[in-house]
Amino acid sequence: MSLLTVVVPCYNEEEAIPFFYEEMLKTIEVFNKDFPSVEFEMLFIDDGSKDKTLKVLREYNEKDKRVRYVSFSRNFGKEAGIYAGLDNAKGDYVVIMDADLQDPPSLLPEMFKAVTEEGFDSAATRRVTRKGEPVIRSFFARMFYKLMARISKTEIVDGARDYRIMTRQMVNAILSMGEYNRFTKGIYGWVGFETKWFEYENVERVAGETKWSFWKLFMYSIEGVIGFSTAPLVISSFFGILCMLLAFVMIVFIIIRKLIYGDPTSGWPSLVCIIMLIGGMQLSCIGIVGEYLAKTYLETKHRPIYIAKEIR
Ligand code: UDP
Ligand code: MG
Repeated sequence: MSLLTVVVPCYNEEEAIPFFYEEMLKTIEVFNKDFPSVEFEMLFIDDGSKDKTLKVLREYNEKDKRVRYVSFSRNFGKEAGIYAGLDNAKGDYVVIMDADLQDPPSLLPEMFKAVTEEGFDSAATRRVTRKGEPVIRSFFARMFYKLMARISKTEIVDGARDYRIMTRQMVNAILSMGEYNRFTKGIYGWVGFETKWFEYENVERVAGETKWSFWKLFMYSIEGVIGFSTAPLVISSFFGILCMLLAFVMIVFIIIRKLIYGDPTSGWPSLVCIIMLIGGMQLSCIGIVGEYLAKTYLETKHRPIYIAKEIR
């Protein structure tokens, strides 16, 4: 017998959970035809929901002993939800799935086969289309992945979902990365292991609405850059040096011109422009350094990644 844990991060998903649960029951039935010796555990993470998510989870937990849940004391974000799920999962294999059925459960048997019979440590999914998503969002998402491919040594796959099945060994590897500023897409790449990729077309959520505003996604992408690349620091030093060289050349030019032609140095507007330019550059570079410092500061506090209020 082996146990498969399905981790489901939920934030205000009272409408989606019933659909999810019904779909899971069907999936388990189909699944057990191929793999009769696999038992299921559904582990819902209530990420400090403000609607009746917790109440719904309590009900399912009462009537189905395969349903467990962890309820946070407040909203800690999906990253914390995933961590808590992996942390509390008892399974030999763990799969992470969204509550909104955007991660098609029909792929599960294939993914399971990859980690049990084909010798992979993990099977993950990526969307090949972004249908139904705002155009600007897709554009920035694409840019982000292109940028990361250039500036980070860690492999971060374009369109990768959090929908992924992993062996116990890989789960433990991820849990050993106890950083507070979590960017799971990078963490998967960092821990390594063999991953089989499944591709599928984007599916729209079954009920409720997306929890990610453009701003939230933007901040999340900064998390990714700062967490998995130090290139911005190098770039800012590079700019600094470039400006210094340029200034040096200009000084020499002005001195020589003065000696030869005796021109008074004219034009304070150009001077103001240069001061503005250099000042702006300095501030933005300090900002970049500050960003890393802030993350370091938060890490050194060793705050817990999540606080559970109720575990059943
Ligand atoms: N989620 C979460 N905490 C949050 C935001 C989202 O646990 O702070 C969960 C959410 O309930 C869902 C999953 O993460 O199961 C993905 O969120 P969503 O569907 O809103 O994102 P999208 O699919 O639009 O990227
Ligand atoms: Mg979704």
